[in-house]
Amino acid sequence: MIDSPNFTNKGRQYKTVFFETFGCQMNKLDAELSLGLLQEEGYRIVDKPDAADVILFNTCSVRQHAEDKVYSHLGALKMLKKKHPEVIVGVLGCMAQKDGESIFKRMPHVDLVCGTRMFSRLPELLLNIKNHGSHVLAVEEDQIVNVKRAVTYRPNFYQAFVTVMRGCDNFCSYCIVPYVRGREISRTIADVKEEVQALVSNGCKEVTLLGQNINSYGKGLTGGVTLGDLLSELNDIDGLERIRFVTSHPADMSRDLIRTMSRLSKVCEHLHMPAQSGSDSILKRMRRGYTVDYYRDLISYAREWIPHISIASDFIVGFPGETDGDFQETVRLMEDIRFHNCFIFKYSPRTGTKAAELEDDLPDGVKRARNMKLLELQKSISLEENRKMIGKKVQVLVEGASKSDPNKLSGRTRQNHIVVFRGSRDLAGKLADVMVDEVTDLTLYGKQPSCS
Ligand code: SF4
Repeated sequence: MIDSPNFTNKGRQYKTVFFETFGCQMNKLDAELSLGLLQEEGYRIVDKPDAADVILFNTCSVRQHAEDKVYSHLGALKMLKKKHPEVIVGVLGCMAQKDGESIFKRMPHVDLVCGTRMFSRLPELLLNIKNHGSHVLAVEEDQIVNVKRAVTYRPNFYQAFVTVMRGCDNFCSYCIVPYVRGREISRTIADVKEEVQALVSNGCKEVTLLGQNINSYGKGLTGGVTLGDLLSELNDIDGLERIRFVTSHPADMSRDLIRTMSRLSKVCEHLHMPAQSGSDSILKRMRRGYTVDYYRDLISYAREWIPHISIASDFIVGFPGETDGDFQETVRLMEDIRFHNCFIFKYSPRTGTKAAELEDDLPDGVKRARNMKLLELQKSISLEENRKMIGKKVQVLVEGASKSDPNKLSGRTRQNHIVVFRGSRDLAGKLADVMVDEVTDLTLYGKQPSCS
């Protein structure tokens, strides 16, 4: 465990940091917060490990593949570390939390293992290594993450992610998150509001609130506050244009929240609410806590109250025991709901979870075929739905130059469509109307109504 040196900038030796992040949006935000902290301490970010004094990997444990990739990156650093023993190599995040000390055994040239709730102490931990030597382990689980955010450091000037709660108490049978991210802890409304206000004062127009199980926001806080209360407070912030939130769990999604969304002008008409399967027997074994009919009813309710709402989902194919019949029920659910988009994953057992005790009985070929089938189906649904947008006017919050064509602008609709169009650069950060004239399954293209 770490000691607590009298942290000071004086005599700082480490100045450049290479930082690579794997996994979900929360990991990306943790990376952003970590880099903000390090920049405040005078570190400069470099894009190659061999140009860095400190090399950090922010890791993901949701799939084996992501872990294998990190171990392979770490293995590749052995020679560099031999030549430059003064370089600090660190593993952060979910894999650090899960594997802890065993990372030092497997990769002795790693200096730092820093868990999911300790990254706010990164500058202090690095100083500790510098002063006291290698193999610093910091994986306390019950820590409240308290990061003084450097609001000027964010990848997109007009858009920011804000963590409002961490951890998960749901223990879906396939999921490693509760074991590596710990129990649910929510930030207070005042704390979140202060951060959002600071971001807006710095030019931010849209926030996406993050939580592994965001519908449980408020559990454990005094006064019985809910996500709806938080959204209502943020809706009042002058200068903020849009609010989004992810990820919603169907069993924790209340109808009250749907009604609250419908009356708050800044909350976007979009829900990412993973169904995971269209089969009740699979949902039961996944321990998801709802049935397919419950999920369908919830979507109907959301569409009734918020007519233009777009719904995104996640699915896992090849869960232990998934029959052809179970899979066909998933296909049917996808066809019936017509999701805006879906993330589709092949099941991969994670040691320590309940599902890992079940036989992983589906051949990889079957999992792959089911994965492809759902991907193709979703692609055709997205394309058909997007075609309905041709000839329509959409309102876009302009994020800046398009990545695919820097001569064009890119932004999103409230329903989370990506829109690429020709327009003046000074539209960045503003709301713009765009007439849609062409689409793919992923993107709408168009021009401003006044353009010829
Ligand atoms: S709700 Fe389920 S899938 Fe989501 S993080 Fe919690 S345990 Fe994992």
